[in-house]
Amino acid sequence: MKAIPYGKQEITQQDIDAVIKTLKSDFLTQGPQIAEFENKFAEYIGVNYAVAVSNGTAALHLCAMVLDIKPGDKVITTPITFAASANCVRYCGGEVVFADIDSETYVLDILKVKQLLDQHPKGTFSGIIPVDFAGAAVDMEGFRKLADEYGLWIIEDACHAPGGYFQDSNSESQKCGNGKFAELAIFSFHPVKHIATGEGGMITTNSKELYDKLILLRTHGITKDPSLLKKNDGGWYYEMQILGYNYRLSDMQAALGVSQLSRAVDGLKRRREIAEIYDLTFNSVKEIKKPCHKEGHAFHLYVIQVENRQGLYDHLKSKNIFSQVHYIPVHMMPYYQSLGHKVGDFPNAEKYYESCLSLPMFPSITNEELQFVIDSVKEYVVKS
Ligand SMILES: *Cc1c(COP(=O)(O)O)cnc(C)c1O
Repeated sequence: MKAIPYGKQEITQQDIDAVIKTLKSDFLTQGPQIAEFENKFAEYIGVNYAVAVSNGTAALHLCAMVLDIKPGDKVITTPITFAASANCVRYCGGEVVFADIDSETYVLDILKVKQLLDQHPKGTFSGIIPVDFAGAAVDMEGFRKLADEYGLWIIEDACHAPGGYFQDSNSESQKCGNGKFAELAIFSFHPVKHIATGEGGMITTNSKELYDKLILLRTHGITKDPSLLKKNDGGWYYEMQILGYNYRLSDMQAALGVSQLSRAVDGLKRRREIAEIYDLTFNSVKEIKKPCHKEGHAFHLYVIQVENRQGLYDHLKSKNIFSQVHYIPVHMMPYYQSLGHKVGDFPNAEKYYESCLSLPMFPSITNEELQFVIDSVKEYVVKS
């Protein structure tokens, strides 16, 4: 059996043809494929604006910039996420304040966030960055209410959940990153995520004002738009109006993104099917705690909890199955420890970390490979 990773991209002939077509075109960067990818992605998510950028971390950085995070500003996020969700605050000199996770859903616990807000004078915090961890859509309606009460903005880190949704209080489906609750949302197109462009990211928003600023910041803060120029010296003229970056996505990558996006619904369906197969098997394995999930879960990851996680990880590895741990709590990283965060501060996150393991979850896994994974897990867990 060849190596089975926890997640990986699926590249079809259609994807390859799309990239080759772009390579033969006049544009390698910021050409027509970017606009197409942005438009189609916005349509998929049901949001007004989408801005393609070089990766998910760049997306987070630009969001932090347009929301004007300044040195000393305090921003709340979850410790169970990829470090970038927190790092974007640091890029702007802000202070990361973690709040613990819910030990059943593994996402930022809204009650813990409320407690934190209540323990400090109003105005202490600037914003919240909830993460749709593993594909579990955060109750953004609840977070919006809380944020409004305390005057906070929200960046939804939806890297794990393109196409995922939650049910709002009117039983309507609300897609992750649809801009109705959070000011901004971000996505990543790293190969382990739902849609792969190599490196790549997207920001979504319903705010024209934020959108215009993001477009500027993505390209050095430079504009050639006649309606925005302070003066016009001639056809060559452009202005650098604010300090931005080069966070552009290339046209080849966008072409790949457009092609991948056309299969996103199928990919999501297959992910849910895989989760169902795992669920059905593990129902009868008392040693395994299955992930709790609701309708709308996007299953970027299928995370189980087991007592001897190290043993299971090693056993699977010996069979060429590469499970993974998502995540080592961010506040336990040496960098965040150096900033004063303490081990012991977030007991739910730390307890979760002790026993969590992400099993292979990607649309192109064959049923045979999946069965091999399941048999290998059971073989170890049930005998140990
Ligand atoms: C992948 C990921 C990111 C960063 O995306 P990159 O494209 O790798 O920079 C940020 N947040 C979460 C939750 C992620 O999973």
